[in-house]
Amino acid sequence: MNRLITIVMYHYVRDLERSRFPAIKGLSVERFCRQLDYIEARYTPITIEKLQGALESREEDLPPNPILLTFDDGYSDHFLNVFPLLDARGIQGCFFPPAQAILEHKVLDVNKIQFVLAVVPDAGALLDEVFISLAEFRKEHALKSREAYLLAAKEEHRYDTREVTVLKRLLQRELPETVRREIVRRLFTEHVTTDEVGFACELYMSMDQIACLWRHGMHIGCHGYTHAWLNHVSPEDQVVEIDRSLDFLQKLGVGKDNWTMCYPYGGFNDSLVHLLRERHCRLGFTVEAHVADLDVYDRLTLPRVDTNDLPS
Ligand SMILES: [Zn+2]
Repeated sequence: MNRLITIVMYHYVRDLERSRFPAIKGLSVERFCRQLDYIEARYTPITIEKLQGALESREEDLPPNPILLTFDDGYSDHFLNVFPLLDARGIQGCFFPPAQAILEHKVLDVNKIQFVLAVVPDAGALLDEVFISLAEFRKEHALKSREAYLLAAKEEHRYDTREVTVLKRLLQRELPETVRREIVRRLFTEHVTTDEVGFACELYMSMDQIACLWRHGMHIGCHGYTHAWLNHVSPEDQVVEIDRSLDFLQKLGVGKDNWTMCYPYGGFNDSLVHLLRERHCRLGFTVEAHVADLDVYDRLTLPRVDTNDLPS
């Protein structure tokens, strides 16, 4: 009986060359189309309901080479570019929008950093800028030395250079929250735009667009409220993040009966998984890059491969 399923993760899917930020790391619409051709030739796209069925009953079998497509971060790319292509081919996509970005028109810090890097490709120069800014916070926040941060952030990333990795880790996680938020705000305002609301409306889907995806049979799940690393926040804050994300699904008309979780940055821990079980979460998706063996992985920590792992 087949218990293996490939779950693919996508982020930006856009006409990069003709976009305002051609240096953004993403998949072109053309390559996405080619990847869909490849997928349809070699795999059987399935729905999330089919996957739930296979997990709940060992009787229900998966088709040969099953594949599930997931799209993180609620980008308008997903409504404008992905949805028409999936709908035309009768493929279900699973979309995971971060609630705060959609509801409050705030640009996620992770996205601000990506767009700053798309405008200023010299990550070394940006790091210099960050450390100059850090000088003024050093005393008040008892910050560590530059070397200590470099050391703490040195873990390898699959697709980034070392300097980009250091910059992202510092600004996403290593620095105290108030400090990193302020530094990211400054970099974004200086290099990208002062109009955050306008930028957010261009970058993310609206509530109506997400509701439209849902009406057309696409799946909408949780991706946290603020898109925090949920394995780095307290259990109390995990409750706030999850409950606010569930309220967001409720507002969309999606409801909480059949909800799924996609962990921001793939970050989860025992207290979070325990909370998800309490809230009757059906499936959880990480960023561990493997084909998912349903007999090995827990349904709340299913691995996903990246679009870059498949030909396009
Ligand atoms: Zn995300």
